[in-house]
Amino acid sequence: MATLTVLKTPREAAAWAKRVRRAGQRLALVPTMGALHEGHLSLVREGLRRADVVLVSIFVNPTQFGPTEDLARYPRDLEGDVAKCAEAGAAAVYAPEPGMVYPPGYQTYVEVGELSQGLCGARRPGHFRGVATVVTKLFALLRPHVALFGEKDYQQLQVITALAQDLELGVEVVGMPTVREPDGLAMSSRNRYLGAEDRRRALSLSQGLFDAQAQEARGVRDAESLRKAVRDRLDAANVKEDYVELVDARTLKPLERVETGHAARLLVAAFVGATRLIDNVPVPREGT
Ligand code: AMP
Repeated sequence: MATLTVLKTPREAAAWAKRVRRAGQRLALVPTMGALHEGHLSLVREGLRRADVVLVSIFVNPTQFGPTEDLARYPRDLEGDVAKCAEAGAAAVYAPEPGMVYPPGYQTYVEVGELSQGLCGARRPGHFRGVATVVTKLFALLRPHVALFGEKDYQQLQVITALAQDLELGVEVVGMPTVREPDGLAMSSRNRYLGAEDRRRALSLSQGLFDAQAQEARGVRDAESLRKAVRDRLDAANVKEDYVELVDARTLKPLERVETGHAARLLVAAFVGATRLIDNVPVPREGT
Protein backbone atom coordinates (compact mmCIF):
# COMPACT_ATOMS: atom_id res chain seq x y z
CA MET A 1 0.00 0.00 0.00
CA ALA A 2 1.45 3.40 -0.96
CA THR A 3 1.90 5.99 1.77
CA LEU A 4 -0.84 8.56 2.11
CA THR A 5 -0.38 12.19 3.13
CA VAL A 6 -2.86 13.71 5.59
CA LEU A 7 -3.26 17.44 5.01
CA LYS A 8 -4.84 19.46 7.82
CA THR A 9 -4.74 23.10 6.71
CA PRO A 10 -5.80 24.90 3.52
CA ARG A 11 -2.23 26.16 3.12
CA GLU A 12 -0.75 22.63 3.29
CA ALA A 13 -3.39 21.29 0.92
CA ALA A 14 -2.85 24.07 -1.64
CA ALA A 15 0.94 23.59 -1.54
CA TRP A 16 0.58 19.81 -1.94
CA ALA A 17 -1.79 20.17 -4.93
CA LYS A 18 0.49 22.75 -6.51
CA ARG A 19 3.44 20.32 -6.31
CA VAL A 20 1.34 17.67 -8.05
CA ARG A 21 0.43 20.03 -10.88
CA ARG A 22 3.99 21.39 -11.18
CA ALA A 23 5.21 17.79 -11.57
CA GLY A 24 2.95 17.58 -14.62
CA GLN A 25 0.52 15.16 -13.00
CA ARG A 26 -3.26 15.20 -13.35
CA LEU A 27 -5.07 15.70 -10.05
CA ALA A 28 -8.48 14.19 -9.23
CA LEU A 29 -10.54 15.43 -6.26
CA VAL A 30 -13.16 13.37 -4.41
CA PRO A 31 -15.04 15.61 -1.94
CA THR A 32 -16.70 13.72 0.95
CA MET A 33 -18.00 14.14 4.48
CA GLY A 34 -16.22 10.97 5.63
CA ALA A 35 -17.64 7.78 7.20
CA LEU A 36 -16.50 6.31 3.93
CA HIS A 37 -18.10 3.31 2.22
CA GLU A 38 -17.85 1.56 -1.14
CA GLY A 39 -19.78 4.39 -2.86
CA HIS A 40 -17.04 6.86 -1.95
CA LEU A 41 -14.29 4.37 -2.82
CA SER A 42 -15.79 3.81 -6.29
CA LEU A 43 -15.15 7.54 -6.88
CA VAL A 44 -11.52 7.19 -5.74
CA ARG A 45 -10.98 4.26 -8.11
CA GLU A 46 -12.52 6.14 -11.04
CA GLY A 47 -10.33 9.12 -10.12
CA LEU A 48 -7.27 6.90 -10.53
CA ARG A 49 -8.46 5.94 -14.00
CA ARG A 50 -8.89 9.59 -15.01
CA ALA A 51 -5.89 11.20 -13.27
CA ASP A 52 -2.46 10.35 -11.87
CA VAL A 53 -3.15 11.33 -8.29
CA VAL A 54 -6.34 11.32 -6.17
CA LEU A 55 -6.99 13.60 -3.21
CA VAL A 56 -9.99 12.83 -0.96
CA SER A 57 -11.36 15.69 1.12
CA ILE A 58 -13.09 14.72 4.35
CA PHE A 59 -15.04 17.58 5.85
CA VAL A 60 -18.42 17.58 7.59
CA ASN A 61 -19.41 20.93 6.16
CA PRO A 62 -21.43 22.89 8.75
CA THR A 63 -22.89 25.36 6.22
CA GLN A 64 -24.87 22.64 4.43
CA PHE A 65 -26.72 21.48 7.57
CA GLY A 66 -29.92 23.16 8.76
CA PRO A 67 -30.30 24.14 12.43
CA THR A 68 -32.40 21.05 13.23
CA GLU A 69 -30.30 18.60 11.21
CA ASP A 70 -27.70 15.99 12.23
CA LEU A 71 -24.42 17.99 12.08
CA ALA A 72 -23.39 17.17 15.67
CA ARG A 73 -24.06 13.45 15.42
CA TYR A 74 -22.97 12.92 11.80
CA PRO A 75 -20.65 9.84 11.87
CA ARG A 76 -16.94 10.67 12.03
CA ASP A 77 -14.09 8.15 11.71
CA LEU A 78 -10.99 9.86 10.32
CA GLU A 79 -8.61 7.03 11.18
CA GLY A 80 -10.77 4.40 9.49
CA ASP A 81 -11.36 6.70 6.51
CA VAL A 82 -7.63 7.34 6.01
CA ALA A 83 -6.98 3.57 5.97
CA LYS A 84 -9.74 3.05 3.37
CA CYS A 85 -8.40 5.87 1.17
CA ALA A 86 -4.87 4.41 1.30
CA GLU A 87 -6.20 0.97 0.44
CA ALA A 88 -8.14 2.38 -2.55
CA GLY A 89 -5.01 4.15 -3.83
CA ALA A 90 -5.59 7.80 -2.89
CA ALA A 91 -2.39 9.83 -2.46
CA ALA A 92 -3.72 12.32 0.09
CA VAL A 93 -6.58 13.14 2.43
CA TYR A 94 -7.45 16.76 3.18
CA ALA A 95 -9.27 16.93 6.53
CA PRO A 96 -9.45 20.51 7.79
CA GLU A 97 -11.13 21.74 10.98
CA PRO A 98 -14.28 23.87 10.39
CA GLY A 99 -12.52 26.97 11.77
CA MET A 100 -9.88 26.65 9.05
CA VAL A 101 -12.47 26.58 6.28
CA TYR A 102 -14.74 29.25 7.80
CA PRO A 103 -12.48 31.48 9.93
CA PRO A 104 -13.93 34.40 11.90
CA GLY A 105 -15.15 37.07 9.46
CA TYR A 106 -16.00 34.54 6.74
CA GLN A 107 -18.83 35.98 4.59
CA THR A 108 -18.70 34.71 1.01
CA TYR A 109 -21.22 32.18 -0.36
CA VAL A 110 -21.99 30.64 -3.74
CA GLU A 111 -25.60 30.24 -4.87
CA VAL A 112 -26.64 28.21 -7.89
CA GLY A 113 -30.07 29.30 -9.20
CA GLU A 114 -33.01 27.18 -10.29
CA LEU A 115 -31.31 23.80 -9.95
CA SER A 116 -30.98 24.42 -6.19
CA GLN A 117 -34.61 25.34 -5.65
CA GLY A 118 -36.79 22.21 -5.90
CA LEU A 119 -36.50 18.74 -4.37
CA CYS A 120 -33.96 18.74 -1.50
CA GLY A 121 -33.40 22.48 -2.01
CA ALA A 122 -37.02 23.18 -1.11
CA ARG A 123 -36.93 20.92 1.97
CA ARG A 124 -33.47 21.90 3.22
CA PRO A 125 -33.19 25.72 2.92
CA GLY A 126 -29.58 26.80 2.47
CA HIS A 127 -28.33 23.26 1.92
CA PHE A 128 -27.13 23.72 -1.66
CA ARG A 129 -25.70 27.14 -0.86
CA GLY A 130 -23.50 25.38 1.70
CA VAL A 131 -22.61 22.59 -0.74
CA ALA A 132 -21.86 24.98 -3.61
CA THR A 133 -19.75 27.18 -1.34
CA VAL A 134 -17.58 24.41 0.07
CA VAL A 135 -17.09 22.72 -3.31
CA THR A 136 -16.17 26.03 -4.97
CA LYS A 137 -13.66 26.66 -2.17
CA LEU A 138 -12.14 23.21 -2.72
CA PHE A 139 -11.93 23.78 -6.49
CA ALA A 140 -10.29 27.19 -5.98
CA LEU A 141 -7.84 25.92 -3.36
CA LEU A 142 -6.76 22.70 -5.05
CA ARG A 143 -7.39 23.39 -8.74
CA PRO A 144 -8.07 19.75 -9.61
CA HIS A 145 -8.28 18.68 -13.24
CA VAL A 146 -11.23 16.42 -12.52
CA ALA A 147 -13.67 16.02 -9.60
CA LEU A 148 -15.86 12.99 -8.98
CA PHE A 149 -19.34 12.93 -7.46
CA GLY A 150 -22.01 10.26 -6.99
CA GLU A 151 -25.39 10.12 -8.74
CA LYS A 152 -26.70 9.06 -5.32
CA ASP A 153 -26.92 12.82 -4.62
CA TYR A 154 -28.37 13.57 -8.02
CA GLN A 155 -29.45 17.17 -7.48
CA GLN A 156 -26.08 17.95 -5.89
CA LEU A 157 -24.33 16.55 -8.98
CA GLN A 158 -26.38 18.83 -11.25
CA VAL A 159 -25.75 21.86 -9.00
CA ILE A 160 -21.98 21.25 -9.01
CA THR A 161 -21.89 20.62 -12.76
CA ALA A 162 -23.62 24.00 -13.25
CA LEU A 163 -21.35 25.93 -10.90
CA ALA A 164 -18.16 24.53 -12.46
CA GLN A 165 -19.45 25.57 -15.88
CA ASP A 166 -20.92 28.94 -14.86
CA LEU A 167 -17.85 30.05 -12.91
CA GLU A 168 -15.47 28.65 -15.57
CA LEU A 169 -13.47 26.81 -12.96
CA GLY A 170 -11.72 24.59 -15.51
CA VAL A 171 -12.53 21.39 -13.64
CA GLU A 172 -14.20 18.42 -15.30
CA VAL A 173 -17.12 17.23 -13.13
CA VAL A 174 -17.75 13.50 -13.43
CA GLY A 175 -20.86 11.72 -12.07
CA MET A 176 -20.70 8.06 -11.12
CA PRO A 177 -23.51 5.49 -10.64
CA THR A 178 -24.95 4.80 -7.20
CA VAL A 179 -23.29 1.91 -5.39
CA ARG A 180 -25.87 -0.27 -3.60
CA GLU A 181 -25.89 -2.94 -0.91
CA PRO A 182 -26.62 -6.43 -2.27
CA ASP A 183 -30.33 -6.00 -1.40
CA GLY A 184 -30.57 -2.68 -3.30
CA LEU A 185 -30.28 -0.09 -0.51
CA ALA A 186 -28.18 2.86 -1.74
CA MET A 187 -25.01 3.08 0.34
CA SER A 188 -24.98 6.15 2.58
CA SER A 189 -23.05 7.27 5.64
CA ARG A 190 -26.46 7.87 7.25
CA ASN A 191 -27.30 4.14 6.98
CA ARG A 192 -25.14 3.84 10.12
CA TYR A 193 -28.00 5.45 12.03
CA LEU A 194 -30.39 2.60 11.18
CA GLY A 195 -31.20 -0.17 13.63
CA ALA A 196 -32.16 -3.61 12.26
CA GLU A 197 -35.87 -2.81 11.92
CA ASP A 198 -35.29 0.58 10.24
CA ARG A 199 -32.62 -0.98 7.99
CA ARG A 200 -35.34 -3.32 6.69
CA ARG A 201 -37.85 -0.50 6.25
CA ALA A 202 -35.24 1.63 4.42
CA LEU A 203 -35.34 -0.88 1.59
CA SER A 204 -38.72 0.58 0.57
CA LEU A 205 -37.00 3.53 -1.17
CA SER A 206 -34.99 1.45 -3.65
CA GLN A 207 -37.80 -1.12 -4.00
CA GLY A 208 -40.25 1.63 -4.89
CA LEU A 209 -37.88 3.10 -7.47
CA PHE A 210 -37.22 -0.33 -8.98
CA ASP A 211 -40.98 -1.05 -9.11
CA ALA A 212 -41.50 2.23 -10.95
CA GLN A 213 -38.73 1.40 -13.44
CA ALA A 214 -40.32 -2.00 -14.05
CA GLN A 215 -43.71 -0.37 -14.64
CA GLU A 216 -42.16 2.09 -17.07
CA ALA A 217 -40.55 -0.80 -18.93
CA ARG A 218 -44.08 -2.27 -19.29
CA GLY A 219 -45.33 0.99 -20.84
CA VAL A 220 -46.53 3.06 -17.86
CA ARG A 221 -45.37 6.59 -18.65
CA ASP A 222 -47.34 9.01 -16.51
CA ALA A 223 -45.66 10.59 -13.50
CA GLU A 224 -48.61 9.96 -11.16
CA SER A 225 -48.48 6.18 -11.64
CA LEU A 226 -44.69 6.05 -11.33
CA ARG A 227 -44.75 8.17 -8.18
CA LYS A 228 -47.52 5.96 -6.78
CA ALA A 229 -45.34 2.88 -7.28
CA VAL A 230 -42.78 4.46 -4.94
CA ARG A 231 -45.39 5.69 -2.46
CA ASP A 232 -46.98 2.25 -2.22
CA ARG A 233 -43.67 0.78 -1.02
CA LEU A 234 -43.07 3.65 1.41
CA ASP A 235 -46.60 3.30 2.82
CA ALA A 236 -46.30 -0.47 3.19
CA ALA A 237 -43.09 0.01 5.19
CA ASN A 238 -44.56 2.87 7.23
CA VAL A 239 -41.87 5.22 5.90
CA LYS A 240 -42.77 8.91 5.70
CA GLU A 241 -42.40 10.54 2.27
CA ASP A 242 -40.55 13.85 2.05
CA TYR A 243 -40.94 13.95 -1.74
CA VAL A 244 -41.30 11.65 -4.73
CA GLU A 245 -40.73 13.46 -8.05
CA LEU A 246 -40.29 12.61 -11.72
CA VAL A 247 -38.08 15.28 -13.28
CA ASP A 248 -36.11 16.11 -16.40
CA ALA A 249 -32.69 14.50 -15.83
CA ARG A 250 -30.80 17.69 -16.68
CA THR A 251 -32.98 20.65 -15.66
CA LEU A 252 -34.69 18.85 -12.72
CA LYS A 253 -38.01 20.42 -13.76
CA PRO A 254 -41.03 18.25 -12.89
CA LEU A 255 -42.41 16.09 -15.69
CA GLU A 256 -45.95 14.87 -16.20
CA ARG A 257 -44.84 11.89 -18.22
CA VAL A 258 -41.80 10.08 -19.57
CA GLU A 259 -41.25 10.94 -23.23
CA THR A 260 -39.42 8.61 -25.63
CA GLY A 261 -35.81 9.66 -26.15
CA HIS A 262 -35.90 12.11 -23.25
CA ALA A 263 -33.90 11.30 -20.08
CA ALA A 264 -35.95 11.51 -16.88
CA ARG A 265 -35.06 10.82 -13.27
CA LEU A 266 -37.27 9.58 -10.45
CA LEU A 267 -36.15 10.82 -7.03
CA VAL A 268 -37.30 10.01 -3.51
CA ALA A 269 -36.55 11.45 -0.08
CA ALA A 270 -38.14 9.87 2.98
CA PHE A 271 -37.85 9.60 6.73
CA VAL A 272 -37.16 6.16 8.16
CA GLY A 273 -37.84 7.00 11.78
CA ALA A 274 -35.69 10.09 12.38
CA THR A 275 -33.26 9.30 9.54
CA ARG A 276 -33.79 11.11 6.24
CA LEU A 277 -32.67 9.03 3.25
CA ILE A 278 -32.60 9.85 -0.47
CA ASP A 279 -32.33 7.73 -3.59
CA ASN A 280 -33.00 8.07 -7.35
CA VAL A 281 -32.94 6.13 -10.60
CA PRO A 282 -32.95 6.89 -14.32
CA VAL A 283 -36.23 6.42 -16.20
CA PRO A 284 -36.15 4.51 -18.47
CA ARG A 285 -33.97 2.07 -16.55
CA GLU A 286 -30.93 2.48 -18.81
CA GLY A 287 -31.29 6.26 -19.16
CA THR A 288 -31.22 7.76 -22.65
P1 AMP B 1 -21.01 12.36 1.22
O1 AMP B 1 -19.84 11.93 2.04
O2 AMP B 1 -22.27 11.66 1.57
O3 AMP B 1 -21.14 13.86 1.16
O4 AMP B 1 -20.71 11.90 -0.26
C1 AMP B 1 -19.51 12.23 -0.89
C2 AMP B 1 -19.59 11.84 -2.35
O5 AMP B 1 -19.82 10.43 -2.46
C3 AMP B 1 -20.74 12.52 -3.08
O6 AMP B 1 -20.34 12.84 -4.41
C4 AMP B 1 -21.80 11.44 -3.08
O7 AMP B 1 -22.74 11.56 -4.13
C5 AMP B 1 -20.95 10.21 -3.25
N1 AMP B 1 -21.69 9.02 -2.79
C6 AMP B 1 -22.31 8.87 -1.59
N2 AMP B 1 -22.95 7.67 -1.55
C7 AMP B 1 -22.73 7.07 -2.75
C8 AMP B 1 -23.13 5.84 -3.34
N3 AMP B 1 -23.89 4.96 -2.67
N4 AMP B 1 -22.72 5.56 -4.60
C9 AMP B 1 -21.96 6.45 -5.29
N5 AMP B 1 -21.55 7.62 -4.79
C10 AMP B 1 -21.92 7.94 -3.53
